[in-house]
Amino acid sequence: MKYQKEINQDQYDVIIIGSGIAGLVTAVNLASEGISVLVLEQHCIPGGATTMFFRKGFTFEAGGHRVSGIRNPGGVLHDLLEKIGKKVELQPVNPAYVVKSGDKILKADPDLEKYKQNVRELFPHEKENIDRYFAAMLKIIEGINYVAGQKVINPLVILSEHRLFAKYSKKSTREFMDDYFKDEEIIAFLTMLSAYTTLPLEEQSFVSYANMWAVHHLGEGMSLIKGGTKTLVNALVNYIDTHGGQVVLSKTVDKILVENKKAIGIKTTSGKEIKAQVVVSTASNEQTYLRLLDESLSSKKFIQRIKSQKQSGSLFQLFLGIREENGQGLENVTTFVMNGHTEAPHSKIYDWDLETITSNGVITVEGKENSPDGYRSVNISCLIPYHHPEYWFVTGKDKSEYCRFKDTIAEMIIENMSQYIPNLQKRIVFQNTATPLTIERYTLATEGGLQGLAHNIKQSGKTRGNINTPIKNLYQAGQYTFPGAGIITVSISGTLCAEMIMNEHFLHQKTKC
Ligand SMILES: Cc1cc2nc3c(=O)[nH]c(=O)nc-3n(C[C@H](O)[C@H](O)[C@H](O)COP(=O)(O)OP(=O)(O)OC[C@H]3O[C@@H](n4cnc5c(N)ncnc54)[C@H](O)[C@@H]3O)c2cc1C
Repeated sequence: MKYQKEINQDQYDVIIIGSGIAGLVTAVNLASEGISVLVLEQHCIPGGATTMFFRKGFTFEAGGHRVSGIRNPGGVLHDLLEKIGKKVELQPVNPAYVVKSGDKILKADPDLEKYKQNVRELFPHEKENIDRYFAAMLKIIEGINYVAGQKVINPLVILSEHRLFAKYSKKSTREFMDDYFKDEEIIAFLTMLSAYTTLPLEEQSFVSYANMWAVHHLGEGMSLIKGGTKTLVNALVNYIDTHGGQVVLSKTVDKILVENKKAIGIKTTSGKEIKAQVVVSTASNEQTYLRLLDESLSSKKFIQRIKSQKQSGSLFQLFLGIREENGQGLENVTTFVMNGHTEAPHSKIYDWDLETITSNGVITVEGKENSPDGYRSVNISCLIPYHHPEYWFVTGKDKSEYCRFKDTIAEMIIENMSQYIPNLQKRIVFQNTATPLTIERYTLATEGGLQGLAHNIKQSGKTRGNINTPIKNLYQAGQYTFPGAGIITVSISGTLCAEMIMNEHFLHQKTKC
């Protein structure tokens, strides 16, 4: 697909900063109502953290690619694609994921009863606790769904019908799990999915864990998009480009223009000013409030809050092209591996213990269509700190030490992961790496945060961040706002953002395309 590089007009109804899923979903929703939108993206390809790259015959998903809410009616992405007449082919992820530690393997069968059975077989002595846990999760998810579906929440309904949700809605995953289990091993296996939050259980918002659990274990489960996420991204870009809007790449927004405390447009780094009635930022909070806007435009309290926010952790990613060899070690799409379940690895990881960093992670095996016959594209991602005492050994423009450091980490990962993918070292024909600095460079996510802001208790749910901002006519969508990170979650945020903009600015000119 040919992407646009030049901005055609000086004025649009709405300018959106960022072509990640949040920006594109916001733009498509507005374009479908006849609103002219300009989406500006600093990177040379669209998609933000949902992106792919191609090297030497191998295609890799570099970011988010397991998707929910896309298969069945009622799912935000399903309904959006249907509304605009675009189709993507899907492939269910089955099992939803696998957890491996030592000689134990737990498969998350998409059928909840079968998954529960697998847990019972692995931990037979915990049968009663397992039953209580599953019953509680389902009850709490009913509460989460009730809250998500209401514009005005009735506290009496919460207290009478969703007491368990009320009890844990402001608690950590650790507090919840400790009420159901004493054995650290089963806790680790059941909560492995929440590794995506990058936080130890003590800091994780339990509701964020429960949401993740729900999309993996209930409803349509997770799917992969055939042809990869660029199929979805291109479908959205194409719709915008052909419905009175533009997605323009390699254009960095330098300033959000503000007059009389109202956003009136943007200025690019090349000095071009474009005007709009409304501006939407899907960039990070740091970008939006501390760089693109003058701090003085927001209250001191607000700026203080932005500065003190905790960013999500980041990843070291190893992209490999490997020989299939009877598919050994490549049986499942997503495998969480952990080395020792009793010790929380986070403190060691943040102390730069490379052995711990490189022996815990998630192995993702791409579909056969993403590699030449007889080979597979594999991604191994390990949680790693963004901050390094020597700034990752980058000295000015000299990156040779940084490259050597990356190679050392890659070697350790390959060594440690060969217990899950036999003969890994010998099977590799292509290798590439990415660090938190890479993620930060391509997406401008502060500290290369995997989920934008950390999903801790303070920064999850309604307290994560609002769609409307302290600046009039400026809105925010994406992983830094409610409901949070993840492809489907930021799609909800983009949908809510477009709805709010339509209601507050364009109701009079609602002319469906
Ligand atoms: C490695 C990785 C794996 C993941 N795996 C999954 C998964 O399997 N499933 C899932 O659901 N989620 C996953 N996620 C999370 C998910 O991908 C993200 O939460 C989601 O894509 C974020 O979308 P967004 O639009 O909010 O932000 P982004 O995708 O970060 O988009 C923001 C865009 O704004 C642009 N931008 C910022 N500032 C400017 C500026 N000044 N001028 C112009 N452009 C600017 C950036 O370049 C970027 O493209 C993963 C994330 C990562 C990093």
